Amino acid sequence: MAQSKNPLLDPKKQSPATRMVHGGTDRSHHGETSEALYLTSGFTYDSSEAARLRFKGDTEGHIYSRFSNPTVEMFQNRMALLEGGDAARGTATGMAAVTTALMSLVQAGDHVVASRALFGGCRYVVEDFLPRWGVSSTLVDGRDPKNFEAAMRDNTKAIFVESPTNPTIELVDLEAVGKIAKAHGAKFVVDNVFATPIYQSPLELGADLVVYSATKHIDGQGRCLGGVIVGDQELIEGDVHTIIRQTGPSMSPFNAWVMLKGLETLGLRVEKMAQNAAAVADMLANHPKVERVYYAGHPSHAQYELAQKQMTGGSNMLAFDVKGKQADAYAVADHLALIKISNNLGDAKSIITHPATTTHQRLEEADRAELGISEKLLRLSVGLEAEEDLLSDLQFALDQI
Ligand SMILES: *Cc1c(COP(=O)(O)O)cnc(C)c1O
Repeated sequence: MAQSKNPLLDPKKQSPATRMVHGGTDRSHHGETSEALYLTSGFTYDSSEAARLRFKGDTEGHIYSRFSNPTVEMFQNRMALLEGGDAARGTATGMAAVTTALMSLVQAGDHVVASRALFGGCRYVVEDFLPRWGVSSTLVDGRDPKNFEAAMRDNTKAIFVESPTNPTIELVDLEAVGKIAKAHGAKFVVDNVFATPIYQSPLELGADLVVYSATKHIDGQGRCLGGVIVGDQELIEGDVHTIIRQTGPSMSPFNAWVMLKGLETLGLRVEKMAQNAAAVADMLANHPKVERVYYAGHPSHAQYELAQKQMTGGSNMLAFDVKGKQADAYAVADHLALIKISNNLGDAKSIITHPATTTHQRLEEADRAELGISEKLLRLSVGLEAEEDLLSDLQFALDQI
């Protein structure tokens, strides 16, 4: 009988859905089915000489879980395979991923360009935090790539965007902005939380680094905080790794284990959530009490063509303006039974937020207006409940205004 190697032993030959289940698994000598949880801060050495060689980098192996850990490594390798990157690093939170990614690219005297529609913490890092350390920043309307081009300076080292954005689901043309970054010798960093790895692959569209809050869809069940940075080997194993190793925004092995298990069902969950979201968006778009719906998968979206080009689905995040005032938006949220008022997203449980008075409260009124965050805007993270129950819940709440 001919002896040949099954090509599927090579993860690169596996489909993304398969990589989410098997990618990065590193079994111990016990041959456990599920990924092992190495809940350890440190590692032992057979001898002083072995320790010396390990520290010198002459032998492979872990030293301390701030630098690396076998469970965290499995999560990183699974994410790298899923995103089509060479390498990844897990972090304690999504904000640790964003901050580490940006800090790895700049130093005092440099400049960063970012889209102005950003998650609250991301905007704080770019607008307030980096300037404290001598890194200036320019925020632009991300919907038109020309705005990025116009903001580029000789010392611009990074462009940072989210697409779709929080909360008004604005899109950035990733391919076009990636080209602008490249032409200016800047690195392009994309926060891909809202699209999820299921519906958008920024590295394929020209990003150098993609970051996630794994707290969101990757856990997807409201348990753990986490983040991840994926990209090319030089960036990840160079400055990104050094910052994590030396400053310590490291991912806990326990959280990495939860995220590994989350990835196994990510595709199933997100696809069902997106199906629900499409049905909800349709219902809201035709509802007399709703003024406007923002959903990347709905033809009424202002950048629907771009969404079709760079995303493979609308994902589970949407927003809508109710007709009326803040009190009406509050009344809708307050009359829901299943959909919970909370500021998280990407969870199995559907979640509604009033951004103007919660996640975006910190912004000036004028900045909120610029971003389209009105007093009657509600952001909805659609979950895994039965579609008909979600529609009834919203229908009931809208009937109360
Ligand atoms: C939640 C979120 C973050 C921050 O992630 P944490 O895990 O909460 O630190 C960053 N970007 C986006 C788009 C997010 O939704």
